[in-house]
Amino acid sequence: MRNIFSLNYREAKSVVKGLGYPEFQADNLFRWLYLKRVKNFDEMTDLPKGFRSFLWKNFKISYPRIIEKFSAPDGTTKYLFELEDRNKVESVLIPEKKHMTFCISSQVGCRMGCKFCATAQSGLARNLKFYEITGQVLSLLERAEGKVNIVFMGMGEPLDNINEVERSIEMINKWMNISLKRITLSTVCLIDGLERILKKFPNIKIAISLNFPEEKDRTKFMPINRKYPISLIIKKLKELPIKRRERVTIEYVLMDRINDSLKDAEKLGKLLRGLRVKINLIPYNENEFLPWKRPSLKQVEAFASFLRKMNYSVFIRFSKGNEIKAACGQLRAKRG
Ligand code: SAH
Repeated sequence: MRNIFSLNYREAKSVVKGLGYPEFQADNLFRWLYLKRVKNFDEMTDLPKGFRSFLWKNFKISYPRIIEKFSAPDGTTKYLFELEDRNKVESVLIPEKKHMTFCISSQVGCRMGCKFCATAQSGLARNLKFYEITGQVLSLLERAEGKVNIVFMGMGEPLDNINEVERSIEMINKWMNISLKRITLSTVCLIDGLERILKKFPNIKIAISLNFPEEKDRTKFMPINRKYPISLIIKKLKELPIKRRERVTIEYVLMDRINDSLKDAEKLGKLLRGLRVKINLIPYNENEFLPWKRPSLKQVEAFASFLRKMNYSVFIRFSKGNEIKAACGQLRAKRG
């Protein structure tokens, strides 16, 4: 039986029409599914009986299955979901002061091949379907209260799966009632995709994983830099309207003795000169498969204050969930 969540809005409308009901019944269905999150067609009391029995016969209401859960003392919780083909992806729920953050995955694995990232090590198994992305959000919504931020910072490169990611953002925004301002897409900066996403969702937040101030280092650690080099990324950033630029976040993973010297800080500062961006420094999360280390706190702070002296807004993001391997770059695709 088909999962009802695989139905997009257009298809839902045509189902409704085919049965001879007015189109707004598709809206009603989606409200029950995404906003009220009922698990049973009988509870959808304002849908015509005939429509409900059609749904019973043809669809199931199925959330991605949680097969493992790890919680850290601060409440950060990692969920391992099993998809219908037994592939697995991870999402992380992060409680913050005023809201909850959901860190969600867009692919099973990733093919960007960043040397320092655990997800990249197993390559790409497959793209997620839009409803496997919205499914993570639905599932986490059951476990959260209050305002929710969504960050595409789990497994995968969202712009490498742009069709399904776009569809999922549309659903999350329109039917789960989460504002685009609360959705952040983090990317190695696939420029064509970035342009497309900004055109479609002008209010979405963007984070760019720059990580290195020099072409040769970025290419060494992030092979995608051959196709989309730093120079092109900076050029594109400069073309963005000022207001938008202020909201762009530059991510920089700090790795001991790789890209954490004050010389690197200076290069980064010069590179971004004139751009009103926020800089998020992410002290490297070590993992058992890779040799790189996190710099000392002293070094991280020195790097940050150097950039602050150059007038940048700098935030040090100790990613949460380190002890449960739920932090950035520690999510690992497990296949079948
Ligand atoms: N593919 C997207 C989103 C997933 S990665 C992207 O690259 O932006 C989210 C962030 O985690 C990226 O900024 C990435 O550079 C960072 N990251 C990867 N491995 C890491 C690690 N081991 N420690 C800290 N951050 C890491």
